[in-house]
Amino acid sequence: MAEKAPERPLPQITELTEPFWHAAREGKLVLQRCKSCGEFIWCPRPSCVECGSDQLEWEEASGRGTIYSFTVIRQVVGRGSKVFEKEIPYVIAWVDLEEGPRFYTNIVDCAVEKVEIGMPVTVVFDPVTSDISLPKFRPTSQ
Ligand code: ZN
Repeated sequence: MAEKAPERPLPQITELTEPFWHAAREGKLVLQRCKSCGEFIWCPRPSCVECGSDQLEWEEASGRGTIYSFTVIRQVVGRGSKVFEKEIPYVIAWVDLEEGPRFYTNIVDCAVEKVEIGMPVTVVFDPVTSDISLPKFRPTSQ
């Protein structure tokens, strides 16, 4: 019997993260913001990491940031990673959002050798399923 091919791992939508994925489906990047101290929070959590308040609300972010660090994936190892093989080479990166949080993502629409630390980037959404649109970042057009 043929072994079932591994499927692409996808985020689980929970009660906590549903507003994020709902906005992502509409092409909007939203972050939680603390009503008490004003801090933006990522990733979604029940209370503020700065002051502990549970008075958090969702706010649309600018969708802009800069690359803090990145790596180029040129090889996948292990059966579970095979699903990403057709995408190599690809870039995974930490992007510092204008609002403050550091966001783990992919850099797209850019040759891998052109990606640089400090590069200004803008969010784009990759609708991988009807429920999940993954936020990725591309170079900000000048
Ligand atoms: Zn707070």
